[in-house]
Amino acid sequence: MAEDSKSGIATRITHAGLDPHANHGVVNPPVYHASTILKPTLAEWNESSKPGYEGYSYGRSGTPTSRAFEKAIESLYQCHTAVAVPSGLAAITLAMLGLTKAGDHVLVTDSAYAPTRRLCNQILARYGVSVTYYDPLIGAGISELIQDNTSVVFTESPGSITLEVQDIPAIVAAAHARGAKVVIDNTWATAVYFNPFVHDIDVVVEAATKYISGHSDVMIGVVMAGKLLGPQLRSLSNNLGYCCGPDDLYLALRGLRTISVRLARQQETGLVLARWFQEQPEVARVIHPALPGDAGHTLWQRDFCGASGLFSVVFKALPESALAALVDGFQYFGLGASWGGYESLVMPNDPRKIRTATIWDEPGTLLRFHAGLEEPADLLADLEAGFARLRAARDSPRDH
Ligand SMILES: *Cc1c(COP(=O)(O)O)cnc(C)c1O
Repeated sequence: MAEDSKSGIATRITHAGLDPHANHGVVNPPVYHASTILKPTLAEWNESSKPGYEGYSYGRSGTPTSRAFEKAIESLYQCHTAVAVPSGLAAITLAMLGLTKAGDHVLVTDSAYAPTRRLCNQILARYGVSVTYYDPLIGAGISELIQDNTSVVFTESPGSITLEVQDIPAIVAAAHARGAKVVIDNTWATAVYFNPFVHDIDVVVEAATKYISGHSDVMIGVVMAGKLLGPQLRSLSNNLGYCCGPDDLYLALRGLRTISVRLARQQETGLVLARWFQEQPEVARVIHPALPGDAGHTLWQRDFCGASGLFSVVFKALPESALAALVDGFQYFGLGASWGGYESLVMPNDPRKIRTATIWDEPGTLLRFHAGLEEPADLLADLEAGFARLRAARDSPRDH
């Protein structure tokens, strides 16, 4: 069942990577548990050790289950190569190791996912790669930070905590003018709402743990690139010993089939919640690029075709007991890391602790919210009750 590369994204999401008649007509690809893969003859064995061999030769280097998932992702991003790796962080690691060597310098957005910074500061640094963090809103000004040895400009747009939208076309133009590659962590928007390859980006990484898998039960990542870098990154992934479990690959592909409807609903609910928060006197500001007036709204409107369900709420200064009264009593907003699943979540985060290139000077706490697939009215009722608890705790702090 060849899906047409010109068809709409929802159609490609539905059909990409399927080959039912290779498997008795069964719609979904089978889950191959494999380490050893036998060759029938010496001639075929010899063939399989040649570079560029397209078949399967060993579990770690790919099975029909991993290829089905990767083909679906290639169709989604309309790119040459997608490589499945064991987590979103593994995807970032693969991209950074693949594009740097000792003596290089990398530029990383100050809004990057915290483990991305640890990778640069604690691991790349040991191998002689230096890092400079930059203001996510720098745009074309990135040129001034590019050194002769800068090999990578790493972007994450919007950042998953503070949601700054980066000027990707301007950053790509500036980086390419100096021979640097640009990587984007596209986990927030996914290919459904932003395809960075349209803007000439070199490598895209996505935590498929989040919206692609969509059900809070899988750790997986993907790295996407064109026909030059893609095969190099695939080979590096194999050399590093990265591979994914077949059941996780199956679940990720199963989750992917519904990503367009989940995201549409999560976008809608996220905006309902974000607008409600904007009305609350205890809220200093809501950071959601799809809200008119948001600092990233203009760029978001120019470059994106939708918003996911992840946004942040910055509170005015409040006693910890008042925030605890809000968070501890939620019926539906689970307190936990990660996001992109079907359920609503809340998580506190203090950007002050990790930023080095920019200053985060909001006096109050930032709570990040993720809109799940619940009825928006039930989520609003959960928030109303939460704010009633918050106000009661704030107004009589000694009771807590
Ligand atoms: C979660 C996340 C990752 C890492 O994904 P894991 O699968 O948890 O390793 C990377 N980038 C962003 C923006 C994320 O939110």
